[in-house]
Amino acid sequence: MPASTQLHAPLKAVLVPLDQVPDPVFAQQTMGPGIALEPLESQLFSPCDGEIVHLARTRHALTLKTDQGCDLLIHLGLDTVDLEGEGITVHVAPGDRVRRGDLLWDFDADLLACRALSLITPLVVTSSDQWRCELMDVPVGRVIERGAALMTLVATSQASPTGKGDGSNNEYREQVTLALAAGLHARPAARLRAIAREHGCTLVLERGEHQADAASLTALMGLSLRHGDTLAVIARGADAAAALGEAAALLTTPEAAEDDPGHGEPADPTPAVVPTKNDTTCYGLTASPGLAVGPLVRPGHSRIEVNADREESAETAERALVQAISTLNDTLVADIDQARRQGRREEADILEAHQAWLDDPALREESLAHIRAGRSAAFAWREVLEGRIIALRQSESRLLAARADDLRDLQERLVALLVPDAAAVGHIEIAPGAIVMFEEITPSQLLALDRVSPAGLCLAGGGTTSHVALLARARGLPCLAAMGAGLIEVMGRHQGGDVILDADNGALIFSPAADQLSEARERIERNRTRAVAEQQMAHEPARTRDDALIEVCANVAGPEEARTAFDAGADGIGLMRSEFLFMAHAQAPDQEMQRESYQQALDSMGTRQVIIRTLDIGADKQLDYLSLPSVPNPALGTRGVRLMARHQALLDVQLRALLSVRPLDRLRIMVPMVCDAAELVAVRERIEVLAREMNLEGRPELGAMIEVPAAAVCADQIARVADFLSIGTNDLTQYTLAMDREDPDLAGRADVLHPAVLRLIDLTVKGASTHRCPVGVCGAAAGDPQAWAALVALGVDELSVEPARVAAVKAGIRRLDRAVLSRALREWLNEPIDSVTLRQRLEQWLSDAPDANTNDRGVSDDAI
Ligand code: PEP
Ligand code: MG
Repeated sequence: MPASTQLHAPLKAVLVPLDQVPDPVFAQQTMGPGIALEPLESQLFSPCDGEIVHLARTRHALTLKTDQGCDLLIHLGLDTVDLEGEGITVHVAPGDRVRRGDLLWDFDADLLACRALSLITPLVVTSSDQWRCELMDVPVGRVIERGAALMTLVATSQASPTGKGDGSNNEYREQVTLALAAGLHARPAARLRAIAREHGCTLVLERGEHQADAASLTALMGLSLRHGDTLAVIARGADAAAALGEAAALLTTPEAAEDDPGHGEPADPTPAVVPTKNDTTCYGLTASPGLAVGPLVRPGHSRIEVNADREESAETAERALVQAISTLNDTLVADIDQARRQGRREEADILEAHQAWLDDPALREESLAHIRAGRSAAFAWREVLEGRIIALRQSESRLLAARADDLRDLQERLVALLVPDAAAVGHIEIAPGAIVMFEEITPSQLLALDRVSPAGLCLAGGGTTSHVALLARARGLPCLAAMGAGLIEVMGRHQGGDVILDADNGALIFSPAADQLSEARERIERNRTRAVAEQQMAHEPARTRDDALIEVCANVAGPEEARTAFDAGADGIGLMRSEFLFMAHAQAPDQEMQRESYQQALDSMGTRQVIIRTLDIGADKQLDYLSLPSVPNPALGTRGVRLMARHQALLDVQLRALLSVRPLDRLRIMVPMVCDAAELVAVRERIEVLAREMNLEGRPELGAMIEVPAAAVCADQIARVADFLSIGTNDLTQYTLAMDREDPDLAGRADVLHPAVLRLIDLTVKGASTHRCPVGVCGAAAGDPQAWAALVALGVDELSVEPARVAAVKAGIRRLDRAVLSRALREWLNEPIDSVTLRQRLEQWLSDAPDANTNDRGVSDDAI
């Protein structure tokens, strides 16, 4: 009979399946299998007899070794580590023997509920290679009484300790088969190193005669471990059992393919959107409209010249190397932090792997040895890394070979720090007015680029609704996206030469003829003159030729942009994305910080209305401190209002901050990702409760975003309980067409002008009109050169666009005859029409539109 242990509920609680715990570390069973409990009392007792073998410094977690030798981790609440022990009293210490029912913790449930992510307490079997859990037949989601039978642990008798549990001398060893499809690449290697550090122990991988310590990334990767290889994992130290469990789980759990975009098998180099029509023109999608002429530049690094031999003493050179490593490490830490805060997880993971490499003691030691042998610091570092790079390139694994570029990046970044003035020598300078080309660019890189005032931007990847596109539009910077990898190849022949970026028409023209250049420059000049004229009228209301008043508001990321929006002539703020404030901090901003930000936005807008959207997190927008579980399809997961319903404390703080601004009648609160009326009603009820607590007389208006097809179809029901609706065309398009808005392969097809999306918008406007509920559009379509007109024709009352587009959109509205275009559009939509044809017809229509002061279309007033 295998050994078994019975566990009993350590407190009265609601049972939560581990995979529903809102923390991926537990939900994905990275630590091991088990169950979670949502406490209904504030004392926790031992679930069985055993010994406390580990207690976290911050008292929020302990490991209990059962008398039969199974390690059980009990983690009080989620993210409770940040409380630094506040609100938690622990009654045991490492080494204590405990009996089932002995008190382990007293805790302040209210404090934990408000200050931590959740009170949910996982019980996890960390030695899962040796023990299997069998849950008792207790219904998940039901209340379980303290002491009731919870689960049985049954020994599978595999690995066993090779040392005795005497503290630091524990050594555990386990044979595993590598399940990582791409072999042991940089990211899991970095994770192994982190596991060793987290548990304060040594982790060694052994394959045949070769061993690699997890502290050295290059040593790990030097084992060239491939999928299916068998190897031994050896853990030494006090917490070795837990470390071994985590390391084995990491190595034996296949990675999700989408988890590893930058570090999976190299992508197919064939461009997704093959843009090259010929060698003189490349095509892409208009991420930000406009026309520009300038030299084409692709930023990159050329190799920095370094002296082989040092001129200074060995000590000075050694100090310089150590200092440069530390400086680069600080930069990486800051970049990782920023990437995480802004939800760019892949980027953060890649940088973390770079950081782990940088921290590799073997690289450092070998470099120092080279210095002592007479080499300069830069040469030593380059030499040592060169060896590793060559080894990686020669690896049979395409994946490892591809990682050589990462190591090269690290090599040259450090050299740049060691060689005075290297930056000026090693980087291609970007002069103001250049047209800059990137494969991909992150929002922070775009902001950095902003300093050199480029004239335009071309991206091989990206899409039209990405944050980069949004930032480019906000700056009025012409930008084409999804131009395909072919662009990079063509680019090589045109670097430095003048090009025409016609983002309005999706074209990048290489080697233009002199007359093309002068024609483009004239057009730019005409556009500039027209923009000046449009700007003069920007502060006036915009009425169509048939006298429909259309409000043109602005989308902003924060209060600073609200001032820009006001100056640009926006009639109000149609969307303030509050998530940017949350992304910019390592913790959720408190009520006062939020209030200040919201108040500043209202103050910047004079007497105009401001719509602030409640936190819209999930899918591509992540907050580290929320530790959202990793789900197979995050775009269809718990996000927007669904997420806030689960994080009531977070919602309450935000609502209180919003209710604190003055005057309240200029604030409108908007709720994202609403699917049905009940979700909005729930938020309204919460506002009511809080407003009463705050003794408020007035209430702000409350509206719903219509950005999922369900909401558009049920718009009449939602409009009944809403003060306004705002259509989020970015998400509405993605969900209607089942095309990821971030996928450059689909960017050319995910067009808001697809008849299905327009029909849903039509349905929304009609549904809202039955309750006289105003409808706006705050997705990118509102400022799209053709789509905005279709939206007006379908009857929306307000368009919310990037501040830089306000004047142009207002001018367009003044040229438009809404009723006439509406009739034409409905006729077109009755035909079997696609978005490309519809776009062409709208473009034609708009270019034929008369000037605001004439009626030269030839449409008789009778027809209107
Ligand atoms: C939208 O989906 O259109 C929208 C405005 O919201 P976001 O782009 O922030 O998801
Ligand atoms: Mg959206």
